[in-house]
Amino acid sequence: MLSGFLKKAIFSRMFTAEKGQIKLLKSRYMLVHVPAMAKIIYDFSKIKGGRKKLYETGFESGKAVISDFRKVLPPAKFLVNSMMNTMMGVQEMLGWGKFELKKLKKKKHYMIVHWDSAIAIEMVKKFGRQKEAMCSWPCGVLAGAIGILLDDELRTRETKCIAKGDEYCELIIERKTAKKSRKKG
Ligand SMILES: [Zn+2]
Repeated sequence: MLSGFLKKAIFSRMFTAEKGQIKLLKSRYMLVHVPAMAKIIYDFSKIKGGRKKLYETGFESGKAVISDFRKVLPPAKFLVNSMMNTMMGVQEMLGWGKFELKKLKKKKHYMIVHWDSAIAIEMVKKFGRQKEAMCSWPCGVLAGAIGILLDDELRTRETKCIAKGDEYCELIIERKTAKKSRKKG
């Protein structure tokens, strides 16, 4: 089912799919085979510094996509929960897996999200259980995107990951300056 957001995007021509190009505002998109994506992330994670690079690439991508939106949307004070629900709805529709906002401290820009990561599920199938959390790239995307929406410097720590055998991936999205009071990510 299309999210309300995408319906609006199609209606206002923010979203177009023609002449072999899928565009949401200025950025181009393509459907990606999840097993291929899982393999790319898996291989890259095994290289020294690879995880960090994946996170940074995701971070820049999340920032760029949402910056596009900020240019066309009227400057408004976003309600953090409705913003998060819209964003998670769009990601779900794009095949990332189901998200659930478990905790939100609005003023601190602190949130805990549980996620059935399509990438992590695929990774376990293909490569077996992993020793570390593997969703560095999407973690970067979320920190970059939500940071732009909230006008703040955020980071994501993945404290549980399906790839490690956890029931879900647990993402802690918080200020970069926040003390890591919970489990190490
Ligand atoms: Zn994960």
